[in-house]
Amino acid sequence: MAETAQTPSTRSSEPAERVKQLPPYLFVEIDKAKRNLQAAGKDVIDLGVGDPDLPTPPHILERLKAAADDPANHRYSFTEGIRELREAIARWYERRFGVALDPQTEILPLLGSKEGIAHFPLAVANPGDAVLVPDPCYPPYRSGTILAGAEVVSMPLLEENGFFPDLGAISQKAARRAKVMFLNYPNNPTAAVATAEQFQEAVELAKDFHFAIAHDAAYSEVAFDGSQPISFLQLPEAKAVGVEFHSLSKTYNMTGWRIGWVCGNAALVSALGNLKSHLDSGIFQPIQWAGIAALDGDQALLRETVATYQQRRDLLIEGLAEAGWNVAKPAASLYVWTRVPTKESSMAFAARVLEQAHVVLTPGVGFGPSGEGYIRMSLTVPTERLQEAVNRLSKIL
Ligand SMILES: *Cc1c(COP(=O)(O)O)cnc(C)c1O
Repeated sequence: MAETAQTPSTRSSEPAERVKQLPPYLFVEIDKAKRNLQAAGKDVIDLGVGDPDLPTPPHILERLKAAADDPANHRYSFTEGIRELREAIARWYERRFGVALDPQTEILPLLGSKEGIAHFPLAVANPGDAVLVPDPCYPPYRSGTILAGAEVVSMPLLEENGFFPDLGAISQKAARRAKVMFLNYPNNPTAAVATAEQFQEAVELAKDFHFAIAHDAAYSEVAFDGSQPISFLQLPEAKAVGVEFHSLSKTYNMTGWRIGWVCGNAALVSALGNLKSHLDSGIFQPIQWAGIAALDGDQALLRETVATYQQRRDLLIEGLAEAGWNVAKPAASLYVWTRVPTKESSMAFAARVLEQAHVVLTPGVGFGPSGEGYIRMSLTVPTERLQEAVNRLSKIL
């Protein structure tokens, strides 16, 4: 410590404490091993990343191209996005969930939902406040809390509770200090879906202890066997305590575009909007127009996309079952989350699978300590590649 902090030359390049506190990237070793194998000419199949391999539907691209030709779209947009986008989001919400939202005060477009999620604690939590964070979880809940100087209080997601936090296990002390609770259903990484009763319990607790709920619904449209996950905002009192984050990334194969939104409680939406007005100047307008085309347009391609993931899910689960590895079928999300089939740690198992089968799996521990003992497999590789991954996994099991 002492020697790094003293000399002016090192002091000048020293990151801030809050940056140093960010959790280390846990997959460095696996990433390095993957790159080494690729450099040696090996054919690596990556079931690690949750990034759709299917292209963005053509009518969305056409709208982007047309809007890009209009110089009116080349200037700064607004932090709050163009009115037409907020109205399209409100229409989509009403159609999909039967929930009415005021486009003026209850909807805020985001540069991808990750951006809004990571900034949310900074907008609403004070240093020393607690933020209730699921474990395992999508990493920005934790890092956003750390950057806000608030304290992460983990809520373990256990298989016996359907990977929903045991709300009765949260101490009174933590609940009193809590400013925000993050929830995420359909869940990444566990693929669990929440019920209205579970959401209702969380709303009750938030009302009793005066904290906000931030529900991440990035996978609300990726659900199988005809099911349709509910919105947190469908609960009668949800809007009084919380917001919901949505993304066009997974629904319309638009991960690289960076467009999503937050909606719900007007005061919480406004706090995030106020913070963001100091940080960014809105989404590139052609992307907003393309987002409108996605939300208002024909949803047939979405149904095809979901059918493709469902086929892949079945192929993976049935293939692994033949090899003696019994894995439950997820009802939603882009992931299969299952126990490591050996006595190894999740990291050791993933490292061995990569070495012997050249298949990348994500070790559960990377999403938080309660993820230990599990691995995550992503459905975002072409079907033939997934079949090849199954063949290789079968050989080494
Ligand atoms: C992919 C993902 C998102 C979406 O991120 P964008 O920034 O909108 O691309 C949000 N939450 C979870 C849990 C995710 O897995």
